[in-house]
Amino acid sequence: MQDSKKNHSKKSTQRVATSRKSELGLRESGVHEARWWEPEPGGKVHCYLCPRHCHIGDGQAGFCFIRANEGGKLYSLGYAHPAAVQIDPIEKKPLNHFLPGTRVFSMGTAGCNMGCFFCQNWDISKSRTDQVRSSYVPPEDVVALAIRNGCPSIAFTYNEPTIWGEYVIDICHAAGERGIRTVMVSNGYITREAFHDIYDHIDAANIDLKGFTENFYGRITLTHLAPVLETLEWLKNETNVWFEITNLIIPTLNDAPSETRALAEWILEHLGPDVPLHFTAFHPDFKLRDKPSTPPETLHAARRAAMEAGLHYVYEGNIYSDGAHTFCPACKTMLIRRSWHDVEEMNLKNGCCPKCGLAIPGRWENSEAKGSKRIAREAAELGARYDDLNL
Ligand code: SF4
Repeated sequence: MQDSKKNHSKKSTQRVATSRKSELGLRESGVHEARWWEPEPGGKVHCYLCPRHCHIGDGQAGFCFIRANEGGKLYSLGYAHPAAVQIDPIEKKPLNHFLPGTRVFSMGTAGCNMGCFFCQNWDISKSRTDQVRSSYVPPEDVVALAIRNGCPSIAFTYNEPTIWGEYVIDICHAAGERGIRTVMVSNGYITREAFHDIYDHIDAANIDLKGFTENFYGRITLTHLAPVLETLEWLKNETNVWFEITNLIIPTLNDAPSETRALAEWILEHLGPDVPLHFTAFHPDFKLRDKPSTPPETLHAARRAAMEAGLHYVYEGNIYSDGAHTFCPACKTMLIRRSWHDVEEMNLKNGCCPKCGLAIPGRWENSEAKGSKRIAREAAELGARYDDLNL
């Protein structure tokens, strides 16, 4: 995953109350019954939330660790139990065409449905819920905390949010009532059966396209490429979600110029030239400590190739670079100047280039939270209960 919970103060990621749910005590602990499953003979259940299609025996959990069969029913163990909560710049997700310069209330749980060897948040993504410290934060309180902290949006991030889709949906309902927007930072590994249930409530997404070969997906992420491409096409053709794409370039594994070129050409053909693409730099982590960090020149070359292929908005991330800025594709005027995750200059006028008037695709307007005075007062009062989150 790209949106690392690292680089920020330790205190803001502090996990407060240990939430322990032994597999034998699931029903007693009040964990949430899951969606997207069906019973099978012998007390097993079939989870069809993601393309792994786990068949889970009684007393066991799926590949992602946080969906468990107890007595022939599937439960969502991550519901209302975030393991990491912090305030980030929206540019860190990364989203460059969605409410630029704003803060986003960001949260993740334990577990993941992919097995990426390079995961930057492996301490939570490779953990079960009883191996991480988490807080109990029901959906309405997530929204109140976002308002209290001046965030116009909430991001489901750090681990894979698809696997806690029930919690995501309930937060989206509460957020929509308060005028707060929602963001998925996802690997795109979701089934057709669950896709609209979740994404019909989402305002923006960043989807990791981790490579462009089945070999890479199979060997390095323990999943498959095709379902991720399908998700991108569903987003484009069937939703109003604003989405951007991230490709983490790892030396020797997915950095071949031919692969980068093929990835850019696929985006152009299937999604069009206006979907922003972020090439980001790898740093050694988890099981891939033997690979070097991505040289900046690799990112520069990838960006050049993708723009030559015809994409309009191609960015470089995890390095300091002019490739972080947004330029008008028609007259080349600099529209947004960034330094790392900071917006230093905003030249867009009503979403258009100030020089040639070209409309720049994105979601540029920041709406106010509804009924803001009363809601702000309630949020301030409620926030005191969560002081130990150190937001
Ligand atoms: S969401 Fe989890 S339990 Fe369900 S199919 Fe995917 S990995 Fe398996």
